[in-house]
Amino acid sequence: ISLRGASIQELAEERVYTNIILVLGLAILLIAGNWFVYRNTKKEIELARIKSDFVSNVSHELRTPLSLINMFAETLELDRVKSDEKKKEYYSIISNEANRLSRIVNKILNFSRMEAGKKTYNFTIAKLNEIVESTFNTYKFHLQNNGFTFKLIQSENLPEIYADNEAVSEALINLIDNAVKYSNEQKEIIITTGFDTEKVFIEVQDKGIGISQDDQKRIFEKFFRATTGSVHNTKGTGLGLTIVKHIMDAHKGEIKLKSNIEKGSAFRLEFKINSKQEMGHV
Ligand code: ADP
Repeated sequence: ISLRGASIQELAEERVYTNIILVLGLAILLIAGNWFVYRNTKKEIELARIKSDFVSNVSHELRTPLSLINMFAETLELDRVKSDEKKKEYYSIISNEANRLSRIVNKILNFSRMEAGKKTYNFTIAKLNEIVESTFNTYKFHLQNNGFTFKLIQSENLPEIYADNEAVSEALINLIDNAVKYSNEQKEIIITTGFDTEKVFIEVQDKGIGISQDDQKRIFEKFFRATTGSVHNTKGTGLGLTIVKHIMDAHKGEIKLKSNIEKGSAFRLEFKINSKQEMGHV
């Protein structure tokens, strides 16, 4: 028996190389497998946490207005309120809380429609100042009653845009809602409209708790809620800004955010002028 070509030494070396490569390949495969399992488990845990947070946040959000409505309605029913003025106050609390309830439910329904790709937009020629003014007037009385300085600064001769009036108003309401929720002692909200050669914008500015740089990158994600500062004490579903983002994407517009911790935040919704042909579903 004689070896052809290679010597025993060369054959042994070749075997060693092949084995080393095989072992390395297997090790890489094992590490990749482990990493994959770790990533998936982490995602699952994160999802389970988000789900349970969401359920508890929503229940909490629904429970407060419900118990207030219950309490004031019962008091009125039992005829415990004698003065007409007090009665009027209680009726207005009930109606405000009922409105809050329907806003929360609408938010969730809207979000689920967006997720399912079923949300449709009705684009028409729109006057941004008119949308802003009517939303502002709806909120003015309520906010000023609650100690807010609530101002509207409108730019004259705003160019018309192509938009869904209701959706833009909803985005604005979500921003005002947040400005109210995340304001502390300094209760000041200013809404501004303006334009340049390419865009028309609405800005909602507050002097509230502000958003950290890290959180600013994540607040438009669904269910995300900041966990620092006094945000913990406020109620929310983590869906408001996701809906605003969806609406702005459908309008091919942009959201700009400037915020400083403890100083306040300014959310700006920018709409392109003359962008009729680009509008549609997201
Ligand atoms: P929600 O308010 O229901 O938690 P949003 O999607 O509207 O959900 O907002 C996401 C998060 O962004 C909030 O939980 C909050 O931490 C932060 N945020 C939004 N708007 C403001 C604001 N005006 N000032 C400070 N923080 C804000």
